[in-house]
Amino acid sequence: MKGFNTKAVHVKYNQEDPYGSLNFPVYDTAAFEFENTVEMEDVFSGKKAGFAYTRVGNPTVEFFERKLKNVSGAKYAAAFASGMAAVSNTIMTICGQNDNIVASKYLFGHTYSLFSNSFQNLGINVKTADFCNLQEIESLIDKNTRALFFETVTNPQLEVADIAALRAIADRHGVLLIADTTMTPPYLSDGNALGLDLEIISTTKFFSGGATGVGGAVLDYGFYEWGKNPALKEWAHKFGSGAFFARLKKEVFRNFGAVMSPHNAYLQSLGLETMALRADKACINALLLAKWLKNNKYVLGINYPGLEDSKFYKLSSMQFRYPGAVLTFELKDKEACYAFMDSLKIARRSTNLCDNKTLVIHPCSTIYAEYDAEQKKYMGITDRMIRVSVGIEDFEDISDDFEQALKKIQ
Ligand code: PLP
Repeated sequence: MKGFNTKAVHVKYNQEDPYGSLNFPVYDTAAFEFENTVEMEDVFSGKKAGFAYTRVGNPTVEFFERKLKNVSGAKYAAAFASGMAAVSNTIMTICGQNDNIVASKYLFGHTYSLFSNSFQNLGINVKTADFCNLQEIESLIDKNTRALFFETVTNPQLEVADIAALRAIADRHGVLLIADTTMTPPYLSDGNALGLDLEIISTTKFFSGGATGVGGAVLDYGFYEWGKNPALKEWAHKFGSGAFFARLKKEVFRNFGAVMSPHNAYLQSLGLETMALRADKACINALLLAKWLKNNKYVLGINYPGLEDSKFYKLSSMQFRYPGAVLTFELKDKEACYAFMDSLKIARRSTNLCDNKTLVIHPCSTIYAEYDAEQKKYMGITDRMIRVSVGIEDFEDISDDFEQALKKIQ
């Protein structure tokens, strides 16, 4: 069995490239033409493999999807315009009106908004729970529940889910186990071995090769019997284990126009080739920075599941190669956070994650600004918290930068 890096770099083309291009070409086109009408009919009806229109399918995007399958071991993989498109399309594929999912109360802010506003308006109910409290999760499951949804390491609370325990609950109730693994994507975690049914990733982050473009993906490991899901029962008769993927691709993805652009698919494919190297460096830097921050007198609290005294250390070590490259720490108040952040000379003030550059943000006044104090408290967001997405710079340069900026706090 080949290693992650080899699998990321060597993926065979579906058909030979006429010019022997070593990198898969970018098919930057909206439409494809046909030799004759019969061929056109056959491709449209699915009788013959081929491409007609990029919103429905494109060779460069398909190549990225094959790379995703190759590195993850997933049975099916689909790429999307963004991580949010991957989340929304997945839930719309598995839920009908009056269905519900049970989700962690700790979610990326826009996912929280999608669940509490947009889906609510469509008649898809999302019940949130403390995902460290297994009884609470189980008490919320009813006959219309279709899935448990959580982030492997929550952004930005850095809570680590006990995936084996969640798998057992999902099995007991016949519901799907869906994880957003943006913080610990394939290479940092193995969704197949962890028993995830569906894995959702914002490929904008580690995959993109350094914030080169927005993208998302969903991986289906082929464990779930789709006939158990009312929205997919009919599809399961026809497509068996491919029912989710068939409805997603032939209906939801196509009709909502969630396509990843061919240019972004090219960048993400290229990014994936070096992802493991970058992720190793960023995660090692994150652990070093977490340890370094612990010894600074201005830092009141530090949160990184890779620290041995973190309450999630054991779980994190069992489930992940590294628990990602994001950490949070607390200063005495919002003013101290702002003074520190404004003094940084290398780390950038930016909202992205898992970039090559070290990025800092004050989540309370940005991503979570639309929520009131009570909601922020429920979501574990305080105005003393700074989130750091640690990059691949030389560690001493990051620590020197943090040291001089921490000295600016009054
Ligand atoms: N999930 C998580 C955990 C995220 O952090 C993000 C974005 O930061 C998303 C989903 C959404 O991804 P995108 O910005 O690619 O739509």
